Amino acid sequence: MSDRTMADDRELREIAAGLHWMARRYADGRMSYAASSFNAWTRRLLAMGVELNPTGDGTVWARDGMGRAFDGLTDEEAAQGREPDGIYTDSTVEQLRAELERSQRETAALLLAANQAIAGLADLVCVHGATFDSNEYPDWDSHCPACAALRPLVVALKQKDDGFE
Ligand SMILES: [Zn+2]
Repeated sequence: MSDRTMADDRELREIAAGLHWMARRYADGRMSYAASSFNAWTRRLLAMGVELNPTGDGTVWARDGMGRAFDGLTDEEAAQGREPDGIYTDSTVEQLRAELERSQRETAALLLAANQAIAGLADLVCVHGATFDSNEYPDWDSHCPACAALRPLVVALKQKDDGFE
């Protein structure tokens, strides 16, 4: 290290700043060790007085898609610059969670209704021989309500269509 000159040092700092600038693009918004490693290195560069380029995004930090516990940033540091792609704010996550829960409730309600409908169909037998769980296709009659009610279910269960009109 004794051979290192001031010119070398300046060159290394420029290279570090350039690599930092490009690496930040890779690390920002990832959900992996990349953001926290990157930020740890960034802290060391800043501590060494390396002048970093905040890039067009206005920050030298990389935000982790999973939040502060993962990228090792303070809220203040993470708030710098524009929102990275793929990062969800707490309010967005909360909104997505609410939509998911609503959709789960709707799905559960649909399943319940479907089960009730199937239970209602289970006892249904028509003069054409259609039953809920028949393995054979009866002679479907398009004018028969029982056939009409049972057929979509039987077809769906068998995953095929026998050309009923
Ligand atoms: Zn029928």
